[in-house]
Amino acid sequence: MPSSSSPKPPAAKKPGKQAAAPSRRDTATAATATAAVSIPGVTPLLADKLFRLGIRRDEDLALHLPLRYEDETRLTPLADALPGLPAQYQVEVVHTEVGFRPRRQLICHTQEPGSGETLLLRFLNFYPNQQKALEPGALVRLYGEVRSGFFGSEMVHPRFRIVREDTPLADSLTPVYPTTAGLGQGTLQKHVRAALERVDLSDTLPEALRKKLKLMPLAEAVHTLHHPPPSLSMATLEERGIPAWTRIRFDELLAQQLSLRLAYAARREKGAPRLLPTGVLTQKLLDSLPFQLTGAQRRAWQEIAADLGQPHPMQRLLQGDVGSGKTIVAALAMLHAAEAGYQSALMAPTEILAEQHYRKLAAWLEPLGLSVAWLTGSQKKKDKALMMERIASGATMLAVGTHALIEEDIQFRNMGLAIVDEQHRFGVRQRLALRQKGTGERQADPSEPSPPVGGSEPGLRAWGANASPHQLTMSATPIPRTLAMSFYADLDVSALDELPPGRTPVVTKLVSETRRHEVVGRVHDAVLAGRQAYWVCPLIEESEALQLKTAQETYEHLSAELPDLKVGLVHGRLKPTEKAIVMEAFLRNEIQVLVATTVIEVGVDVPNASLMVIEHAERFGLSQLHQLRGRVGRGTAESACVLLFARPLSETASQRLKIIYENTDGFEIARQDLQLRGPGEFIGARQSGVPMLRYATLEDAQLVEQARDAAEAMIQHHPEAVQRHIQRWLRGAEEMLKA
Ligand code: ADP
Ligand code: MG
Repeated sequence: MPSSSSPKPPAAKKPGKQAAAPSRRDTATAATATAAVSIPGVTPLLADKLFRLGIRRDEDLALHLPLRYEDETRLTPLADALPGLPAQYQVEVVHTEVGFRPRRQLICHTQEPGSGETLLLRFLNFYPNQQKALEPGALVRLYGEVRSGFFGSEMVHPRFRIVREDTPLADSLTPVYPTTAGLGQGTLQKHVRAALERVDLSDTLPEALRKKLKLMPLAEAVHTLHHPPPSLSMATLEERGIPAWTRIRFDELLAQQLSLRLAYAARREKGAPRLLPTGVLTQKLLDSLPFQLTGAQRRAWQEIAADLGQPHPMQRLLQGDVGSGKTIVAALAMLHAAEAGYQSALMAPTEILAEQHYRKLAAWLEPLGLSVAWLTGSQKKKDKALMMERIASGATMLAVGTHALIEEDIQFRNMGLAIVDEQHRFGVRQRLALRQKGTGERQADPSEPSPPVGGSEPGLRAWGANASPHQLTMSATPIPRTLAMSFYADLDVSALDELPPGRTPVVTKLVSETRRHEVVGRVHDAVLAGRQAYWVCPLIEESEALQLKTAQETYEHLSAELPDLKVGLVHGRLKPTEKAIVMEAFLRNEIQVLVATTVIEVGVDVPNASLMVIEHAERFGLSQLHQLRGRVGRGTAESACVLLFARPLSETASQRLKIIYENTDGFEIARQDLQLRGPGEFIGARQSGVPMLRYATLEDAQLVEQARDAAEAMIQHHPEAVQRHIQRWLRGAEEMLKA
């Protein structure tokens, strides 16, 4: 907004609400800000504002780049004013008054010298000195948008200054910076200009590398963007395709790559037990399975097994679309650890999922003579105490559970492997907490005998406080390659890019809500054919209570419409034990139609369910729809997913439905989703301290790749430049990368 630099007077005092003295918290932040900001000539008040923008040093000011520009290099005749297009005009004040209709405002009548065109200026908030400046005869230079008002052409809250005939015009475009409340463009411009005089913008990118990548020197790029030469048009600048922007975007991506790779290297420095397996148990498990591993599963398993044998912690992400079979790979890894005499833990985000994992692992592993411990928040105290005892003593080698696994009083005897399923559902802290269960800080009694399986030294204590267990995270959120390259640069990634054979792809149908009764008929048919169905209730984001009510109503309707079938209901408000009872009944086909809210979104595996109905599918996000659809098509039966939608459909809603209808590949869906939504939402999925990008976008795969390669080269050959580069760009954000 052009008015951004006109100082806004304080808002009118509301009766009864005094301008309070700054609270203790404000004073504290102001003090922190003043202490943190080291920029010459900055008052504490300004320091506080700059701090809020993440600006602490001259270098930060220099890299605080314009959002856009305003053209004050020329005057536009009023006759040429275009609606919606801000421009600079020059007029002379004829008369200024304070009007009261419809509310108090300053009204200034002006006329353009030469043409005689008139223009009305209106200010809803104004200072007395502004009123005084706009005296008759004053020459005013204005920047803003002319629109036609009731009394002819007018400008509301234009940015203006009083000039003389010979006041020169700006010689380059005026930058408009991202700012915060109470910090005007004029002040920012002044401090950026001053900082640019003082700051050292010498290149951190080695010259040879810079030349090879045909990148502009950084100093030149920064100066160009703050003060673009007249040869650059506004349109070109704002497209961000010019060499100066490319250099900035590259540097930012490079900083991200460097910090992620360093975080990776730092974690690799830690010690971890080499898990040397006998291979006996894993082979037994493979022999007992009713299926063969897919090629992708075998590859991933080999990569994981190789990592586990290293004396430093594995940091691997196992990525695979829903239904690609991650659980068995996790089970193999846990067995591998058990063979080597170490415990492992598998943490899942919901009780339903944890319970399902437990069931599977127990079914697979108990026949091999291994017991699996089980921990959740809703467990009875007595059961929990028993499990805790077994985990602490090492009587059990494998533990499965929810967040309950990371509660303070849970002690492992010697955890060598920590697995987190659906990792995007956990925060950094939680993942870290699980890992810490396996460091040398535990207090097991060393005189205790080793657990019955395997034979090697079980104590992690030998590794000291700098030890870490091996870590495997699993995710079914497929993310496009450039994003993976960028946001998972601190992890090794194994991808399950192949689904187990024998699955018939899920047929997706788009059906208007008006034909709901036909869909109910299909559900009936499916159940008569021996199958089961999910019926997912509409998502109501605004109100959980409303969502619950809808779920209940859907349940009642369907029960009435399908009187000969057993209909069940599961939603987020049920107690975990109640949820488990329903899920178990569904698994045993005692419930044939499961009405559910999105609690079944992640991981639920009931192969006999072959029909999924999603009501008001237009309200769901793409990855959610994909996850939900992934609940069917898990057995060999022909499966279908019916997306019921209600009109009117918004533009993006219909695009989403089209994408999910046309695609089954999670990666392709993710790619199109990225285009639809931009990377912001994907970043949220990682929930970690991955440095945010201010200027770069990840759509530019080539630039991301170049940055990644340059990062490798710099870490190897120019370690001093690496530190300088990270400090220049990340402003301390790299501290958040510890997890
Ligand atoms: P996800 O990757 O979504 O966690 P799961 O591990 O739940 O997938 O596996 C989905 C289903 O596929 C399970 O029923 C599992 O037993 C089965 N499965 C896993 N691997 C194979 C395979 N190689 N062949 C056939 N079925 C498999
Ligand atoms: Mg899973």
